[in-house]
This record gives sequence, structure tokens and C-alpha cells, in this order.
Amino acid sequence: MNQINHTAGTTRGGRQGQSLEGLRNQNIGVLLSAIWGHAPVSRADLSRLTGLAPSSITRLIRELEESGLIQETGKGESSGGRQPVLIAPNPNAGLIANLDMSGSKISGGIFDAANQLRLSAEHPYTEFGGEAVKRQLLAVAHEMLDDPFTHDYPVLGFGISVPGEIDMDTGAIVEAYNLRLRDFPLRQILMDEFGLPVYIEVDTYAAALAEKHYGAGQSVDDLIYMLVSTGIGFGIIMNGKIYQGKAGMSGFIGHIIIDRNGPMCLCGKRGCLEAIAGRPALMNSARRLLKYGRDPLLADIVDPDPAALSLEHVAAAAEMGSAICQEMILGEADDIAYAISLVTTILDINFVIVGGEVAQQFGSVFFDALHAAMDRYRRAQHTIDIVPAGLEREAFLKGISMLTLHEMLGISF
Ligand SMILES: [Zn+2]
Repeated sequence: MNQINHTAGTTRGGRQGQSLEGLRNQNIGVLLSAIWGHAPVSRADLSRLTGLAPSSITRLIRELEESGLIQETGKGESSGGRQPVLIAPNPNAGLIANLDMSGSKISGGIFDAANQLRLSAEHPYTEFGGEAVKRQLLAVAHEMLDDPFTHDYPVLGFGISVPGEIDMDTGAIVEAYNLRLRDFPLRQILMDEFGLPVYIEVDTYAAALAEKHYGAGQSVDDLIYMLVSTGIGFGIIMNGKIYQGKAGMSGFIGHIIIDRNGPMCLCGKRGCLEAIAGRPALMNSARRLLKYGRDPLLADIVDPDPAALSLEHVAAAAEMGSAICQEMILGEADDIAYAISLVTTILDINFVIVGGEVAQQFGSVFFDALHAAMDRYRRAQHTIDIVPAGLEREAFLKGISMLTLHEMLGISF
């Protein structure tokens, strides 16, 4: 990745041991990236992909095999001579412990060095604020790291995706309104507890990158990932890379004011997009509908457990003809379409992936309304593809895992 300037500590020694430090040179990074991107792949193809001489490839491959990072996985098709030996990442080279703090729960995922999910854990937020979030975060981290599976491999470090502003030097969360966090020393907390390096990135950037490589954005080089969840924000991929902005603050659209007389936002301003279209605001509206008996259809669907009310119930009621629930989803789609039109017009990007808990739970009703609303907001000449996320929740974990693999091993995706 270009523009990555977060810092992490040194990699803890593990099976691949001390040789890692020596491996961090440019050719190794290029070669690893080619192997991760094209595995299983032959030495000849690696030479062609990287531009490195066959003799260098042979030497570097031997070095990487000795370090345990890669392995031979069988033979490929012969093009006349001997069958070529195929090379692939060794998934057992090390694990990344990832945490995603966005939405309504903390999700954890242990990924192997080939970036495959091997173990997961999660904890719905029960409380917010520094002490409460710290306690819940450490509980999920311990659940992953204390698991017998994890003990069999070296853990290279933590990757954490965060719904808020990050201090790149200290690894602290400067501000995450929905979690009621300010100056939260995230990296320090994890390092004190586990002694492992910690890499932190904004949640929407991680999700955007994962969608580009594994999800709905594989066919394009430029895209916007729009998160519609507890918070609202976006991540930008340009030329296949994350665009973070000068201060790592691109995409924080949740706090633009769309209604000057609107409700108070957690950030202290009035009428922010997030205060109107974020998940808590929608859930409040839905709860009011039940409380005041304004939508018998919704009440029927939720019955017998009103406490279990979710946005999926609202979507189901809308589909069954509830005008008031349809209106709620149309309103949401309108607000999000407006935000998308701002971003896509300014950046001239025409591929938008929409993900997050709200988008997921409102489902096709929401996406139909979103397409209709976009027709009102987009410039006449600007065709914009809007597609649902391909990975849903795993996007955050898979994306932060990619970034952490880059940070720890120099692998670019
Ligand atoms: Zn706000």
C-alpha cells in the first residue's frame, strides 16, 4: 500500500523467527505480493509477474521457504518440458488477530498468513465509554488468543478496524462518538495486555479494500465503499489502493449537516447525517411505532417479542405493505443517495458498494429505493453503479487483516 504511515512495533519472534527482519527488502515484498495475489504460481510465472531474474527468484524462494512463509503445493500444467512446481503462501506461517469495533458489536477473527478466517469471536456492545469498551474488547481478544487453536501458531500481531478518527502516531482513537470514546489509547491497551504489535485503521478503509479484492469490487480499480450502519462513512479505493487523505480522515461524511433543524448528534452538532440516518436513529423511530401502536403490521411481525425488534422486521413490514415502514426506508434511501451523490460527483467515481448493518437488514427494499433516489440526485450524464456489499461483516476483518499482513510482512494486495 502506498500512503500507509501508521507505525507498529516489531514483529514478535515465532516459527519464522529472526529471519523476518532480513526479509524486509523490496524484492521480497514484491515477490510475496505476487505469490499472495496469484497462488498457486510457478517460479517462471513469478519471474514474469515481478520482473525479477529467474536466478533471483530461485534464491529468494529458497529463503522464503526456509523462513516458513511459503510452501510448495504441487505441480502445474507442463508447457512442453517438466511440470512446474507451484508455490503458495504457507497459511501456518503466522496468525493475525483482528478486531472490528464498528456497528453494534465487537467482532474478532483470527486469520492465517494466507488471509483466511480460521476462528471467530464476537461480543455485542452492552455498554459504551472508555472502561466498558476496554473490558469488552479485551474479552474478545482473550477469547481468540486463549483458544487452543491459536496456541499452535505464532501470532504476528493485532489488526483493529475502528469507527472513528485515529492518531496515527500513538495508535489512540481520537474520537469515536458512537462508542463514546475520546483519546482512547487503543494500541497501548492491547500492547500492555498481550505484548504484540498493533495495527489500526479506519473501518471503512479496511472494508473498502476487502471488497475490492474479495467482494463486490473485484472488477473495478476505483470505488467508494459506503457504510450504512450505526455510523455512516465511506472508504475510497483509487487505482486499487486506499485513499486515506492527508490526515487519514477521508470519508467521514456522517457528520455533515443535512438538516440544520434536525436532531442533536453525539458530536454536538445538530442535524448530522448520522443523527438522522444512522442505525440508532432508525431503531428509535421503529420503537416509537411499536410503543404508540402506529403500525399494526410491524407489531404483528415482531410479536411475541417486541424487544427483539430489528430493522429486518421493518423491511418485512414494508414488503407486506406497511406504508409507514416503506416511508422509513424511502427516507433512509433518500439520505444515503444524497450522500452518495455528493461523494461521487466530487470524486468522479461511478462504482459504489453499499454495506453495513442497516443496508444488510433493510435488504432489497432499501436497494430498490436507493436506485430510485439516485436517479433524482445524480448528474444527468453520470451513470453510477450501486451494488450491495459482497462480504458483509467479514469485510472489516478481512480488510484489516490485509493491512496488518502488509505492515508485518510487507505483503501488498
Ligand atoms: Zn454529528
